[in-house]
Formats: sequence, structure tokens, C-alpha cells
Amino acid sequence: MLARNNEVINYRQIYVNGEVLPLIPSERSYITDDAVYLKRRKDIPSMYISAFAGETENLVRSVAEVTRTLPAKISFKSFKSKWGCCDPSRNITFNFMMFMLPPHLQRYIIIHELCHTICFNHSAAFWKLLEEFEPDYKREKRELEEYSFLMTLY
Ligand SMILES: [Zn+2]
Repeated sequence: MLARNNEVINYRQIYVNGEVLPLIPSERSYITDDAVYLKRRKDIPSMYISAFAGETENLVRSVAEVTRTLPAKISFKSFKSKWGCCDPSRNITFNFMMFMLPPHLQRYIIIHELCHTICFNHSAAFWKLLEEFEPDYKREKRELEEYSFLMTLY
């Protein structure tokens, strides 16, 4: 995984929804369908959040209906060691780097955090609940680990 991500690690390419796009120095930071234009590296979190937070929050709300979970506030920020977290008041905070991942892994992260609104720890009961909504979760969890290097970059 790391070897084939050389250009991502060198900031010449960047992931958007699972696709690797060229990362192009620019006067302004913005995302198009085929490239990401970047003024300053520190623009990356806010650029991704303004591009994708709205539609992702809608997706979280619709998955929450299906799974009969009840998240409170949903927000996005940069984490260095996790894809998301859920506090005891059911506020969910996602790592904005989830927007870099393929849609099925974004969905895994969403369902994982929604299950935490019911079960706060990673107990056997938690994984059982998760499996109900996401039978393939073990494979997705493994696949997600291959992307954890992103958290060292942004
Ligand atoms: Zn968890």
C-alpha cells in the first residue's frame, strides 16, 4: 500500500473519495473532479470539510434512520489516530480524512460511529451490533487500516 502511494506521500497526488488525483500548487485551494488545487497545505482540512461535510452529514442522518440510531451533533475535524469518535452525549466527530476514502469505507466509518451511539465501547456486543448492519465489516476494517498512513500526512 505504501509503495504505491509514493506520490500521495510526496504531496504530488491526493485522495478524494477513493480516487487519486493530482495535487497542483495554485493561488487558491479547491477541489475539482480531476484535480485538487492547493495554495497552502494547511488549507486541506477546511477545503475537504467545505466540499463534503454537508452531503456526508445528510448520509449519516439517512443511515441513522435505517439503523435506528440517534446521533446528536455531527462534526468533522482532523484526528491523527482515529477515523471518528462518539462521546457519551452521542455527538459524533469524524476525521475529515474520511472524505479521502472510497465510499464503502466512508460508510463503514459512519456505521461504526453510529453503533457507538448505542454501545460506547468496543465490546463483543458492539461488534455484534455492527455486524447486523454491516456483515462484511471485518474486511472493511482491514482495508481501512491500509489508509491509516494518511493521518501522518495531513
Ligand atoms: Zn469505535
